[in-house]
Amino acid sequence: MLIVMKADATDQQVEDVLDVIRVLGFKPHPMPGATRTAIGITGNQGAIDPGHFENLPGVAEAIRVSKPYKLVSRDLKHDDTIVRVGDVEVGGPEPVIIAGPCAVESLDQAMGIAEMVAVCGVKLFRGGAFKPRTSPYSFQGLGEEGLKILAEVRDRFNMKIVTEVLDTDTADLVEEYADVLQIGARNMQNFSLLKRVGQASKPVMLKRGMSATLEEFLLAAEYIMAEGNYNVILCERGVRTFADHTRNTLDLSIVPAVQNRSHLPIIVDPSHGTGKRHKVLPLARASIAVGADGIMVEVHNQPEHALSDGPQALLPDMFKQLVGEVHAIHKAILETETSLV
Ligand code: PEP
Ligand code: MN
Repeated sequence: MLIVMKADATDQQVEDVLDVIRVLGFKPHPMPGATRTAIGITGNQGAIDPGHFENLPGVAEAIRVSKPYKLVSRDLKHDDTIVRVGDVEVGGPEPVIIAGPCAVESLDQAMGIAEMVAVCGVKLFRGGAFKPRTSPYSFQGLGEEGLKILAEVRDRFNMKIVTEVLDTDTADLVEEYADVLQIGARNMQNFSLLKRVGQASKPVMLKRGMSATLEEFLLAAEYIMAEGNYNVILCERGVRTFADHTRNTLDLSIVPAVQNRSHLPIIVDPSHGTGKRHKVLPLARASIAVGADGIMVEVHNQPEHALSDGPQALLPDMFKQLVGEVHAIHKAILETETSLV
């Protein structure tokens, strides 16, 4: 059920509707929009009688939601959601670049890479302290020591930190240090973890599972939002196909598909999407051209010595070129759009 308030509904009328929903034993999710507030309802097992709401003051209509997801849907919130991380707006007018190493390996390594990306104007630094590795014998991340290094990066370079939460056991710890909680592809359907980050006060970046459909991806975001955390950034990072020239097949067509169905911002990760550094710049270009709200890329100053994902890490010069091209492509699109109006 979705309640659409009238454009001139007062705050008190919205509050009264929220109370009615709570009294019925359900959870209200008010979503203020540019012209009106909509209220999503979760916690109900079957259909709710619209008659509970239709005659309440300030209510324009009560609509049954036929899609399996509600809170992520554009039916509930027509305007794009902007997720604010410090002074960065993900989903705002400018494309966002998140950059950093795959894993935090040492203070020197993180500081060296951070300095390089900060000089290029990056405001969001990525790096894993808890790493989901295919092999139990591979480097698993520095754990809390890695988080402390990330906190030093934040302090020294005034960047916000994006880092992965691997499990519910370490969620409290990661939440203390991170500015954005990353849910990795392998955890996209770890429902207890999704619920846990749904209760967090920090924004969540949710990566698409390696075989997830669009609907499964959106329903994973719905888990987070249903707990009350509405600051969700989606991230396409490639899916498993028969193609063996690439680590994953980057599915750029999901960007307009998501934008059609959901108000949430979506960024693209061409590093995990390709697995090879020579493919990262071409697909970063394409990601911006297709309308993504930003990209996330891995960068290393000594990729031959990287403890994870060295082959896909951009070298500093390649990264500088990428930043310039991302802004140039975005500008060219804006200029083309305005010149055609
Ligand atoms: C990552 O971004 O560090 C990562 C592990 O990516 P994914 O979950 O997409 O494999
Ligand atoms: Mn990686």
